[in-house]
Amino acid sequence: MFGFKKWWRKRLLKKSFPENQLAILKKNVPYYHHLPSHLQEKLVGLTQIFLNEKRFEGCADLEITDEIRISIAAQASILLLGSEDLSYFYEDLRSVLVYPKKYVAKVKHRNNGIFVEEGFEQRHGEAWSHGYVVLAWNEVQQGVSDIRDGQNLVFHEFAHQLDYEYGATDQIKQDHNNSHFISWARIIGSEYEQFLKSIEQNQQTLIDDYGATNPAEFFAVVTELFFEKPKELKRKHPKLYHQFTEFYQQDPAAYLKS
Ligand SMILES: [Zn+2]
Repeated sequence: MFGFKKWWRKRLLKKSFPENQLAILKKNVPYYHHLPSHLQEKLVGLTQIFLNEKRFEGCADLEITDEIRISIAAQASILLLGSEDLSYFYEDLRSVLVYPKKYVAKVKHRNNGIFVEEGFEQRHGEAWSHGYVVLAWNEVQQGVSDIRDGQNLVFHEFAHQLDYEYGATDQIKQDHNNSHFISWARIIGSEYEQFLKSIEQNQQTLIDDYGATNPAEFFAVVTELFFEKPKELKRKHPKLYHQFTEFYQQDPAAYLKS
């Protein structure tokens, strides 16, 4: 089964992408133009794998167009540009749900384990551990338009998806000093703690405050910086940056053209 999947993906990786679809990718994903040519080619191949395997569903009457599918597929594939192993490709992702704009989600809060309150929250996007990524299309467009602002909703939500699948931040939530994944958990854990201290002391940080919510959000927010402000992240947090190059198996500070 795995062998067949890999074979099929290898074929998709090399398949030529229809001109009109490539034009959509180039127009909607400016990041493409900042990649060296071998990574541009790889991104096109990975995007085809994504489009071939993953389902998109329009919510609140949104009609799923090629523009939506290609924009999201290509950005999600940027996170996998460094991976050489085609046996993994968001294996647990079942569907990408797209709303036209910020949507209202019904939420449950547990109070002292007894009360369950229900409320509503405005959301831009979310990733669920049972295989759904939910995105607001207008926020996707905003995130992709400026590739240097360190904010990108698709990178953020697909980082959560990878985290669910690999348990990247599980070790940090537990006791990171006793983790088997010593360097990853220790370095990310201590960077997270330092970051919390800076927030408490109202210091200016490169990393967005939202990363202080929990280690999973820290991971997702740093992922956005890793791909959009790699040089700054490397300069200000070299150890953290290094751990992310190991996780994503790529070095955007070195390859990203200005
Ligand atoms: Zn998040």
